[in-house]
Amino acid sequence: MTRRYDDLADAVLAGTPATADDALDVLRASDDELVSLVAAAARLRRKHFGNTVKVNYLVNLKSGLCPEDCHYCSQRLGSQADILKYTWLKPDEAIEQAAAGLRGGATRICMVSSGRGPTDRDVDRVAGMVGALKQEHPDVEVCACLGLLKDGQAERLRAAGVDAYNHNINTAESHHDDIVTSHTYADRVDTVTKARDAGLSPCSGLIAGLGESDEQLVEALFALRDLDSDSIPVNFLMPFDGTPLEGTWELTPGRCLRILAMARFVCPDKEIRVAGGREMHLRSLQGLALHVANSIFLGDYLTSEGQAAEADLELIRDHGFVVLGAGPTDAAPAEATHDPAKRRRGAGTDVPANA
Ligand code: SF4
Repeated sequence: MTRRYDDLADAVLAGTPATADDALDVLRASDDELVSLVAAAARLRRKHFGNTVKVNYLVNLKSGLCPEDCHYCSQRLGSQADILKYTWLKPDEAIEQAAAGLRGGATRICMVSSGRGPTDRDVDRVAGMVGALKQEHPDVEVCACLGLLKDGQAERLRAAGVDAYNHNINTAESHHDDIVTSHTYADRVDTVTKARDAGLSPCSGLIAGLGESDEQLVEALFALRDLDSDSIPVNFLMPFDGTPLEGTWELTPGRCLRILAMARFVCPDKEIRVAGGREMHLRSLQGLALHVANSIFLGDYLTSEGQAAEADLELIRDHGFVVLGAGPTDAAPAEATHDPAKRRRGAGTDVPANA
């Protein structure tokens, strides 16, 4: 077994930041090295987050019909993807949806709307929803994700009780204009900066699998480190039919693990969230990913369905983790409570075998 990644973990734990070369080396780990890479990254994860997993829940307040042209997005201008399209949810429905996520075990609610950015009226609308949600659930942490912010809007969201603001940089500056032309990379950075300056916890991450090079993935991660993003969602492209990136399949489960490990080495004490595309791309390696990342979305994504919320919680428990903020009862390991399914197919039957 190689000690290379353990040595890197030792250095990072001792306070020496990972370099771009280290990050590239992690991205290019061989299959033989993958388990030792995960084990080394897990040391950093354990040091900063122990055995906890932060569970986030998305509420898509306004879906589709966006005038922007982000190539990866099913909600973009001209998207032919067969997704739900609706305008703003009524406050009661938004709160009901958020409450479902909280009952399911989430501690952070991410309130998201499609569009270039909110009008002042939209900010008021979301502020009202957040106020009502916090009245019913005082401990809930709320992250807003409403697009590009204008001057003063971040302050108004903060005053309304919003805790965090998400705006992903998505990809490296050097790749940005290949995937979106209706706004600039600088626009995105400006919004993250506005959020931070207003006292909102900055949440900004990336999407892997957009045709970027290894060097560009490293570039994006270092940009996020420079931005000092508290939370880093790592999305894996879900190439919706009817979008420009339809049919773009660049990722393997091992590649996704390497990307998460790189994020952990570069930003060891930041919340690394396995975000969209988790089930599709990590597949049976989702559990290993939890030993590197410390945060997931529960249940469904903005326009696609995730695996069953109970399967998410089972994944957490089965790998020996607990939901951050959950009580001792919630955190107890689930016992197997069902009889084994009796075989009624294959040998001795007329039903095709399970093979
Ligand atoms: S990512 Fe956001 S801004 Fe871009 S097309 Fe999708 S909803 Fe619109």
